[in-house]
Amino acid sequence: MLDFLEVAAKQVLIACSNLLLIGLLFVLLAVLVKGKEVLNQARSAMASGTFNLGWMGLNLLLLMPVAGGLYAFFYSYPIGLIDRSFWYALPEPVVIFAAIFLGDFIGYWRHRFEHSRILWPSHRVHHTDEHMTWLTLQRFHPVNFFTTMIIDTSFLILMGIPPYAVVANNMVRNYYGYFIHADLPWTYGKWSRVFVSPAMHRWHHAANPNAYHTNFATVFSIFDRAFGTYRVPGPCDEPLGVKDSFGKSFAAELLHPFNPKAYSVKKRPKVTQASK
Ligand SMILES: [Zn+2]
Ligand SMILES: [Zn+2]
Repeated sequence: MLDFLEVAAKQVLIACSNLLLIGLLFVLLAVLVKGKEVLNQARSAMASGTFNLGWMGLNLLLLMPVAGGLYAFFYSYPIGLIDRSFWYALPEPVVIFAAIFLGDFIGYWRHRFEHSRILWPSHRVHHTDEHMTWLTLQRFHPVNFFTTMIIDTSFLILMGIPPYAVVANNMVRNYYGYFIHADLPWTYGKWSRVFVSPAMHRWHHAANPNAYHTNFATVFSIFDRAFGTYRVPGPCDEPLGVKDSFGKSFAAELLHPFNPKAYSVKKRPKVTQASK
């Protein structure tokens, strides 16, 4: 029991110091890009930022201890479709790139699945933020956090990806995830055809039916382009969030996936031409 508490306390400490460093970096970036306007924006985003920290705390408490056990469980069984020796024969940077590429491929399809009727009730929390900032990355329902962990990790382990590359992929997705949630108007120009920009992911959060079911990838926009869901008309100044009649308090959002009515909601209207 003491060991468990020690591990949990260490994880919380590491997460908090990481968050402080990342926060400082994004504050600096915001000041450089927006100047004095940052103060007004910070004031209006304060409530949602605190809300997001609440979700982070809950997930740390409930799921971080589970994550270690899950990795140990998967890696203790030889269940890979590709033998791990295949990857160990390759240079580490190649394996890490493959892990990030495959990780984004499965992340793309998992995220599309999260916008289906089955997983939307637990994914909805991530979309209720109307003042999206880098901290929105931490706004996930524990059920959503758990399904993400299971789907993404088990896929990479099935592919035989070694643990060091799975960890590298998680780190890249985490830090790049903060970046694409930051309130930055960057579209990347022609590079937007390869990488997901902050503007591209902001469109994913827009409360505009034309933006529903678009921009699901985290790192490589090529997946959205390949599967017809890419849509970046420019920087996104649209209102963000979800339009439904369900509650948006912490308790209401926490209970939402356990409410049968959440699963009977009509699917969000689909846009046939994602590039519109
Ligand atoms: Zn989403
Ligand atoms: Zn997001």
